[in-house]
Amino acid sequence: MPSSRVRLVIHGGAGALPNRDFSREIAHMRGLIEAGRDRLQAGAAALDVVVETIAGLEASGLYVAGRGASANTDGIYELDASLMHGPTRRAGGVASLVGFASPIRAARAVMEHTPHVLLAGRGAAAFAARQGLEAIEDPKAWFTPAWRETAIAGTAAQMGTVGCLALDERGELAAGTSTGGIFGKLPGRVGDSPIIGAGAWADDTVAVSCTGQGEMFIRAAVGAQIAFRMRFGGQPLAAAAPAALEEVRALGGEGGLIALSADGDIAMPYISKGMKRACLGPDGEITVAVF
Ligand code: ASP
Repeated sequence: MPSSRVRLVIHGGAGALPNRDFSREIAHMRGLIEAGRDRLQAGAAALDVVVETIAGLEASGLYVAGRGASANTDGIYELDASLMHGPTRRAGGVASLVGFASPIRAARAVMEHTPHVLLAGRGAAAFAARQGLEAIEDPKAWFTPAWRETAIAGTAAQMGTVGCLALDERGELAAGTSTGGIFGKLPGRVGDSPIIGAGAWADDTVAVSCTGQGEMFIRAAVGAQIAFRMRFGGQPLAAAAPAALEEVRALGGEGGLIALSADGDIAMPYISKGMKRACLGPDGEITVAVF
């Protein structure tokens, strides 16, 4: 494997049952990392690889995002996602999006085809329809909630999200996050995932995607906090990422995050019972883990 500056990091959500078999998720994450690696090494842009990788996570039904998302207490599937491009800090997101297969593609469309950063609810759905994004005809047939297998397990299983970070050959960073939110959420509840600076962030220093109890990740501004610790505090990623997560813990939250610096450093800390995660590190080695 030729040495390369490209990096790719994904997560499939915090919280995992210790005795469950994760072989499908592990194989799936490895496949996505290999596909993304090949594209990045062929010169693909970080932003494109982030969107395609997250779309793959959403479509699998293996994680609490996209097809695997859980419904709110009204039985409606309201999905959140966001995307950010490091060098330009262009960003887009959707919140409480109903009726569309890929929230991350909707987030990209908001970024690229509106002057806004975040569209929510009916306006987001109307926009996604105008963009010609894939609609869900029959939600009952489409969604295969990943939480069904784990919902009885207590708080550690009542969440799940997907995220992806990439560093391309040009040195550009991008970050994205997509989620069905937390299990048992109220209609209209929006977590950290579509909030730029909370559940996702990318600038020219670092890219971040979070998973966990979104309320605490918003209150700790985790994505922006890591970037600002590095930029204004001079902290290395290895110090900044766990420090921000400690603030989530201090607020009574749990979860985890993935972070990737422009230098190619990777951090994947978590304070939950496991976090599905995978990365392409220096010299091309791939790491995939749940615990
Ligand atoms: N952070 C997500 C939210 O609060 C949930 C998760 O990551 O499990 O919506």
